[in-house]
Amino acid sequence: MNSFPAWLVTKTNDQAEVHQTELTEADLMPGDVTIRVEYSALNYKDGLAMTQPPLIIRDFPLIPGIDLAGVVERSDSDSFKPGDRVALNGFGVGENFHGGYAGKARVKSEWLVPLPENLSTRQAMAIGTAGYTAMLCIMALEKHGITPEAGKILVTGAAGGVGSVAVSVLKHLGYDISAVTGRMNEAAYLKQLGANNIIDRAEFNGKPRPLAKERWIGAIDVAGGFTLANVLSQIKRAGAVAACGLAESMDLPTTVAPFILRGVTLYGIDSVMCPIEKRITAWNRLANELDLDALEMMSNEIGFDEIPGAALAILKGEIRGRTIVRIPE
Ligand code: NDP
Repeated sequence: MNSFPAWLVTKTNDQAEVHQTELTEADLMPGDVTIRVEYSALNYKDGLAMTQPPLIIRDFPLIPGIDLAGVVERSDSDSFKPGDRVALNGFGVGENFHGGYAGKARVKSEWLVPLPENLSTRQAMAIGTAGYTAMLCIMALEKHGITPEAGKILVTGAAGGVGSVAVSVLKHLGYDISAVTGRMNEAAYLKQLGANNIIDRAEFNGKPRPLAKERWIGAIDVAGGFTLANVLSQIKRAGAVAACGLAESMDLPTTVAPFILRGVTLYGIDSVMCPIEKRITAWNRLANELDLDALEMMSNEIGFDEIPGAALAILKGEIRGRTIVRIPE
């Protein structure tokens, strides 16, 4: 049986180790679709999985990588046939099911999103979990009734993966966007993506007052911690925040004041177990509403060997935009 390259996380005597190896299809888990993986991506969660595996990985040995895109090689499902181009984000892939950092994947057909015509597998991974989560955040704000006319939108962690895609799509939709970043040297990049105003993250670091001046009708937050607490205290009456991340902290040192005195709503966004119909809606919207030139501008492609270094960099907040991983045959 032909072998293919893979990153594998193993555990011996309570010690997790990440190494590159060669596997065959016999090493894969049960599933009804086999995919030749062309590209994967590096998300914040992948950074954790590659450097501190027990935080993310539940079963060992495991191939990490929460995203993959490729071409169906074999299918026992009526929904997919050989040659179909597909993407997979989450559903436990790269956590308790073999993930995208390998030449092949065998997965469950019900997890797969058929790629929209105009997206290549490479572009799909430039979007990846981060980009698809940005769209889920936008969909939550829209469902709340927020429109471009209602007021300004704030995006935190704006130079990161979720933030960059969120800014770009919100721009396409006509919103007035303020971007919070710890990297003021990325102001020109954020303006190019569509941010109208750039705010230094330091303004959101301190302990917030229960209620501050009302500034934003909606926000997308990737940080948690004091940042999210400060954002909540600045949301206008009846506005909403879509919270998806913990780049700053898992804590949320807030009060009930924004909720009970201003009717603010906090939406939690979970991309991992999001139902497939909503994923397909999000992916189709990304195919139409994300400027593909902007996507290319915010993306950087790396080789298979470069994953560990990039994993360290994303945890330090050093990576701008999105990282595509090229998977060798
Ligand atoms: P990135 O690392 O690409 O971006 C995160 C950004 O957060 C950084 O680039 C930085 O932006 C900002 N940041 C970093 N440290 C801090 C800090 N201490 N305080 C405030 N902001 C900080 O990650 P992703 O965009 O891929 O993911 C963002 C978050 O969302 C992560 O926590 C991730 O786990 C989570 N996530 C959750 C999902 C879900 O399903 N709920 C799905 C996808 C992601 P800048 O330099 O501009 O300040």
